[in-house]
Amino acid sequence: MITLDGSYGEGGGQMLRSALALSMWTGQAFTMHHIRANRGKKGLLRQHLTAVKAAQQICDAQVTGAELNSQHLVFIPNSIKHGNYKFEIGTAGSATLVLQTILPALIKAQGKSTVSISGGTHNQSAPPADFLQYAFLPLLAKMGVQAELTIRKHGFYPAGGGEIVVKIQPCPQLQPLHLTQRGNNKSSYAESWLASLPAHIAERELATVREKMGWSEEQTHIRSVRALGHGNVLLLFVEDEHVTNVFSGFGEFGVSAEKIATNTCKEAHLLMSSEATVDEYLADQLLLPMALAGTGSFSTTHLSSHCQSNMAVIQQFLSVNFQHHQLASGSIHIDISC
Ligand code: ATP
Repeated sequence: MITLDGSYGEGGGQMLRSALALSMWTGQAFTMHHIRANRGKKGLLRQHLTAVKAAQQICDAQVTGAELNSQHLVFIPNSIKHGNYKFEIGTAGSATLVLQTILPALIKAQGKSTVSISGGTHNQSAPPADFLQYAFLPLLAKMGVQAELTIRKHGFYPAGGGEIVVKIQPCPQLQPLHLTQRGNNKSSYAESWLASLPAHIAERELATVREKMGWSEEQTHIRSVRALGHGNVLLLFVEDEHVTNVFSGFGEFGVSAEKIATNTCKEAHLLMSSEATVDEYLADQLLLPMALAGTGSFSTTHLSSHCQSNMAVIQQFLSVNFQHHQLASGSIHIDISC
């Protein structure tokens, strides 16, 4: 039984998701104390609880502590079962973070799976579904994973009501990926999505993107979508030869459209003006699949606390080394090896 302290480092939900994913993959049981100890509302929220129950169902695990607000969990996995699954968070909690938990297991399964997850598809502090579609899954495809994500319904905080469906083919052996360069830019564009909100919000966001990024009218698009409640997300896509990075900003009451767009552009500039291959979010999300492949490398703009905590959790389950050093340009190169 591996014992993990959920208050270590970042002390957030990702440590739990990584532990569940690794436990399913390796068959090793774990117990986690102080779950999400560094968050305002500590313990398991609906999104985390759905992830625990999804993991339990997929590998027939024995679980203790799977209750709302629980700060302690024991998870004893059994063998992974592929199939058709449907998970409902029941709030606007992030559907993509539930997927993050169960995807590795379903990649390792004996047969193909289809998973529907309902909840939020576009949440602050979580990967927007488009991020998985255009940035994360294409990199997994280079590692041999065939997983296709469709957004059935958009779901924004606080109403939720979104749904993603993912079809996953088994991949017996993940291939190593070394992401040393982004390569030449193939295309860059922005989309501002609106659900039941006035068009001027998207127009102002995209005008700011054109000014800050030097992009043309043809590179900026307004998209309208029907959702349960209202919502707005601004997405910047930077598609380079070897990797696509996706940057996002969320409409918020009391924060101007210009400010949301300016902050999102800053994140894109940070990467584009560096020699890093991926932004801080792709960085923490790539660690686990690369560690499962046994080796890999990439560079990022800085080493986030999410990244460091995730490395610590991964090393509890797998004998991998993470080495990182600063490049002359200031970016951080990360190497994963057995
Ligand atoms: P909490 O922080 O409330 O515990 P959480 O479940 O949101 O819960 P975190 O530990 O903060 O968990 O993990 C958030 C995850 O979402 C990380 O994997 C991070 O890379 C990802 N993420 C956050 N913001 C973005 C973004 N803008 N684009 C892509 N991914 C993101």
